[in-house]
Amino acid sequence: MSNNTRITQRDLRHVWHPCTQMKDHEQLPLIPIRRGAGVWLEDYDGNRYIDAVSSWWVNLFGHANPRINAALRDQLEQLEHVILAGFTHEPVVRLSERLVKITPEGLDHCFYADNGSSAVEVALKMSFHYWRNVGNRKKTRFVCLSNSYHGETLGALAVGDVALYKETYEPLLLQAITVPGPDCYHREPGQSCAEHARVMFEHMERTLAEQGEEICAVIVEPLVQCAGTMRMYDPEYLRLLRAACDSYGVHLIADEIAVGFGRTGTLFACEQADISPDFMCLSKGLTGGYLPLSVTLTTGKVYEAFYDEYTNLTAFLHSHSYTGNPLACTAANATLDIFEQDNVIENNRRLAQVMKEATAHLNDHPHVAEVRQTGMILAVELVKDKATREPFPWQERRGLRIYQHALANQALLRPLGHVSYLMPPYVIDEEQIHHLAKVMHEGIDLACVD
Ligand SMILES: *Cc1c(COP(=O)(O)O)cnc(C)c1O
Repeated sequence: MSNNTRITQRDLRHVWHPCTQMKDHEQLPLIPIRRGAGVWLEDYDGNRYIDAVSSWWVNLFGHANPRINAALRDQLEQLEHVILAGFTHEPVVRLSERLVKITPEGLDHCFYADNGSSAVEVALKMSFHYWRNVGNRKKTRFVCLSNSYHGETLGALAVGDVALYKETYEPLLLQAITVPGPDCYHREPGQSCAEHARVMFEHMERTLAEQGEEICAVIVEPLVQCAGTMRMYDPEYLRLLRAACDSYGVHLIADEIAVGFGRTGTLFACEQADISPDFMCLSKGLTGGYLPLSVTLTTGKVYEAFYDEYTNLTAFLHSHSYTGNPLACTAANATLDIFEQDNVIENNRRLAQVMKEATAHLNDHPHVAEVRQTGMILAVELVKDKATREPFPWQERRGLRIYQHALANQALLRPLGHVSYLMPPYVIDEEQIHHLAKVMHEGIDLACVD
């Protein structure tokens, strides 16, 4: 029995894995990872894999990054955790100062949680509570975009629109208003993404005009709907949305949990539209992929609406046990140090160009409808029929063939349905990108044969 098998047999007796039909593992081997270094993961049999999905989009500067490791070792000797109500610590103070400085103008207050979904819950609750605190009790609803994803907890799921994750739980969920979004995949032939965004914005404009009085906030994933199979849209939509939210008196929540920290080519995606949201949710890359931490940033105006005598009961009485964990904040500070010390955004521009060139030939593939890219996210949409864009039936699970081919060829490429994508750590090199592109191409060929 191999070392891998020894561990996975034990695993399958007791571990229930996320986002997994466990029965799949009767066929599909689970892979136990012994160690990581840079872009590489290594299993217990010595096989190696390039982590092309950044371990679910969290890792920025590689596994076992020496600088983040060193910072964590130091912090570990000082303080592992302390309650953040009534107490504080230097790592959370420093992180908050820095986040306020690097995020769009006006986001001056940081509220921490320990995962992305919770950051979204915080934003939704805070927005609703703000309106109550300022005496408006009519606002109880939230608007989201079609194909959006904001997490798995019930509140976050309610403002999402990926049926696969949501449908089962529908009877439990608050009723969000879902507006057709600007996903550029659906543009008319010859139309630009900016034009498509303007046309699609009419749906949003109408919703806000008709129902603005009952709406607390609009929540969006700026520029890329990652869980919604890496669908992308033009910054023009965000500019129009910011202006409309202002004129109809509705908050704008930017969920940059996946796209933040350089993924779209700028430190934050909102920068490309030159807008500031009323709330910004960050997680995933926040700690460089080391530890669970999330933050919801908001404005002085929102903060002030909660700031009052205790007995007026306007405080935001939300908490999580591990809020602002010092080790997680230290990993986040070390991650921001790397952004400060290295020319990350600049270097990524070159890597993004390499990703583009290495996959360009896929545009001619008979089963590829689109190769799209925003910064360090590149996605390839597989279809049954290139001309009509008819998708492969989802039941065929052709993406799994890409996944398995990649595993046999030193790559972790985990498709989303029939979309194969690259979202690698920023420490990847050109040769590794070319290897991933080659493996992806072979995997796509295998996935498309009958
Ligand atoms: C991953 C993700 C979330 C949820 O974060 P978790 O830490 O998985 O709860 C929310 N929004 C977006 C855009 C995400 O990609």
